[in-house]
Amino acid sequence: MERVCIFCRIVKGELPATKLYEDDLVLAFLDIAPINKGHCLVIPKGHHNSLTTVPAEQSARMMTVATQLAAALMRATDSDGFNLLLSNGTCAGQVVPHAHLHVIPRHAQDGVSLPSRSRPYDSDEEKEALVAEVRKRMISRTDP
Ligand code: 5GP
Ligand code: ZN
Repeated sequence: MERVCIFCRIVKGELPATKLYEDDLVLAFLDIAPINKGHCLVIPKGHHNSLTTVPAEQSARMMTVATQLAAALMRATDSDGFNLLLSNGTCAGQVVPHAHLHVIPRHAQDGVSLPSRSRPYDSDEEKEALVAEVRKRMISRTDP
């Protein structure tokens, strides 16, 4: 999997990318098909299809770097805000099977619309039962 992963190949320097930031754990580069100018991706250097298997130190670094980049992008592109987006799994819209966090600068009239709709709970009981299930199934993320 890792040999053919395009993002792993970018990490290794085998494919070109316009890099914005790099350290020992993460890499950030411009998206090849930007939603807005400055749209970039923050990835863990190790190959993980899902964010759920990225070691906590790396996922924490992804968020730290995404936040720093978002602030810099807002200043550099004179944008008013930004979206952080991570699609995990094909059902969620993930196309590249290497976890990546999108940083998308936003302007008030940029015409970008992210998918949204509301699906309410049928009852308070259903909501409480779901909350109980989630609490029970939370996995501790204390990496060795
Ligand atoms: P996803 O839909 O998986 O969350 O997003 C994948 C993103 O990767 C897309 O926004 C797409 O434009 C970007 N992308 C795909 N291939 C390449 C590539 O080779 N280089 C760069 N820089 N971005 C890519
Ligand atoms: Zn990869």
